[in-house]
Amino acid sequence: MSKINLTINGQPVEARAGMTILEAAESAGIEIPTFCHDPQLVGVGACRICVVEVEGGRGLPAACVAPAGDGMVINTESEKVVQARKANLSLLLANHPLDCLTCEKSGECKLQDYCYRYGVAETDYPGEVKEIPFEDSNPFYERDMNKCILCGKCSRVCFEVNGAGAIDYAYRGFKSTIAPAFEEPVENSPCVFCGMCVDLCPTGALNPKLSKGLGRAWEIDKVKTTCPYCGTGCNFYLEVKDDKIVGVTPDYDSPVNKGNLCVKGRFGWDFVDSPERLTKPLIKKEGKFVEASWEEALELVASKIKETVDKNGPEALAGLSSARVTNEENYLFQKLIRMLGSNNVDHCARL
Ligand code: SF4
Ligand code: SF4
Ligand code: SF4
Repeated sequence: MSKINLTINGQPVEARAGMTILEAAESAGIEIPTFCHDPQLVGVGACRICVVEVEGGRGLPAACVAPAGDGMVINTESEKVVQARKANLSLLLANHPLDCLTCEKSGECKLQDYCYRYGVAETDYPGEVKEIPFEDSNPFYERDMNKCILCGKCSRVCFEVNGAGAIDYAYRGFKSTIAPAFEEPVENSPCVFCGMCVDLCPTGALNPKLSKGLGRAWEIDKVKTTCPYCGTGCNFYLEVKDDKIVGVTPDYDSPVNKGNLCVKGRFGWDFVDSPERLTKPLIKKEGKFVEASWEEALELVASKIKETVDKNGPEALAGLSSARVTNEENYLFQKLIRMLGSNNVDHCARL
């Protein structure tokens, strides 16, 4: 792969030919703000917060789509660039409910972060604001399109990565918004509630319902784990506050699922603390399930296995495992059954 050499903010940078200016800068540890960019999506250069100044060039190109060229001299924070970003943010605030005090996204919102970074506290363009009804009729995430900055990441991930194409831009100009076809609620659309749009949204326009009110971004620890729902083995981070699970965020570095999840892994974590969950073994005695100790339960299972094998031979024994344990546990389970002399091993996924 051929290399190019350029200068970014006075720093010599060696980059791969074909990289965008944004990628070249990131490869050298230079951060450029973005709203609409995501490495898994086709670059569109729509939000223009990533504009940079290229010496000898015309205008301010969007770094996420402008190719890096050999010998380029680039400034990512020049006076012109900063003025352009401030104007951009000021325009976004013209139509934005500034309720950071109670917004679920506060602390991890890119709009909030960039306004702080460039000292933009209010808009220079006061006027009419949109009033789009809040939507929370589905069980998984809520949509507050008044906080949408129309970056288009949600509709692009839905179409380009998920393939569902459940949402897209609706209307034009001031009335522009993101919506399912005919502005139906998302549950009436092809949405499969994968939550990818929620994860990529840079503002508080899309929020997981179950996590609402359970903690601020800076109070939450992230613990990497494997999804217990099926044998695919997707990875994600459990968001934990005070030893309680309060949410899930994707692991984009996971080789298994590269950040993608299905509705179960993404939104189905609340069973963990359910009072209806079985936490002790139950043994049926006189037709009724009765709580037992683990010792009693394991002794009963071992004695029944022994009795079956002694009476009818090991072929009479079969083991049925579960998709809701890890591959390693399934491996151990089949080892155990084979060790007891039977090859009759199966799995609930084939029921
Ligand atoms: S989306 Fe961001 S800027 Fe808007 S209210 Fe929420 S935290 Fe504040
Ligand atoms: S949850 Fe998934 S399927 Fe539904 S709109 Fe978002 S990205 Fe599309
Ligand atoms: S809902 Fe979020 S991700 Fe979608 S366009 Fe609006 S700000 Fe961007």
